[in-house]
Amino acid sequence: MKPDWRFAPLRPWLERTYGRPLHRVALDAGSTCPNRDGSKGYGGCVYCDVEGSGTGALRSGSDIGAQLEAGIARVARRDPGDFGVIAYFQSYSNTYVAPERLDEVLGVLEARLTDPIDVVAISTRPDTLPEWALARLARLAERVPVWLELGLECADDAVLDRIQRLHTVAEFEDAVARARAAGLLVVGHAILGLPGDGRDGARRTAEVLARSGCEGVKVHHLMVLRRTILERWWKDGQVELLEPDTYVDWLADFVERLGPDQVLHRLTGDAPPTEQLAPRWTVHKSAIRERLMRELERRGTRQGSLAPA
Ligand code: SF4
Repeated sequence: MKPDWRFAPLRPWLERTYGRPLHRVALDAGSTCPNRDGSKGYGGCVYCDVEGSGTGALRSGSDIGAQLEAGIARVARRDPGDFGVIAYFQSYSNTYVAPERLDEVLGVLEARLTDPIDVVAISTRPDTLPEWALARLARLAERVPVWLELGLECADDAVLDRIQRLHTVAEFEDAVARARAAGLLVVGHAILGLPGDGRDGARRTAEVLARSGCEGVKVHHLMVLRRTILERWWKDGQVELLEPDTYVDWLADFVERLGPDQVLHRLTGDAPPTEQLAPRWTVHKSAIRERLMRELERRGTRQGSLAPA
């Protein structure tokens, strides 16, 4: 972390690490989710809209190659300078596939691992990380840094049960340990303000993320999207959402309890306005970053000040 920063945001870390700005190119391999197809559960996590698990239509290798090329061309139009790319398999459970399928998808990337791809990022669930998948990702990591994006969301099994995550905190901790041992960099995800979690929950979640040793963290506030179970709960008055001031307070608690070197990939959420029902904040995400900085200054603390020993 730079001495004048009170937390470790992603962009400067990327520039220091890779020597140039990096842009995400989102790729859809058509993955599905065990929390929707019935192998774990039906309906998904309460906040996940039907798009959250991807299209469900397996993409051919050439589809993925075309997505990658189109994405890189888009970035080049926006940033004509020297840039790198994070090839990001964003549709969530990308290791919830047959071994041949993961091999095919990663093979498409491996055939294109030239400039400007600096990083490959893969989202999945902590309970869908079998050893064969880790071994395949470890092979990829010998050629390019691989980030594994893993949802913890919160550190309370009762809350995880309530929001229908259908995995446990222990499964997250085990997945992080195995992924790091395999040479992957792990980005743990958290949501503040989940029903029944509260401010103490935000603190607990940060402590679990700090102890896990994951290299990166993404955090955002709870949002109600259309076509989710949460939409029904919210309309029934069962869900209390965070206002920006409260979120910044809880976020400061959260950041204080992370490890000082964990890189903050995201500090707030956004969703298309047509999909997001609530909350309707008028503050921009850069304003949340500024407010967080000011709050930490006011407290005289910084990221890691209250990290668990
Ligand atoms: S695990 Fe991910 S994709 Fe599956 S239902 Fe939950 S949020 Fe959606």
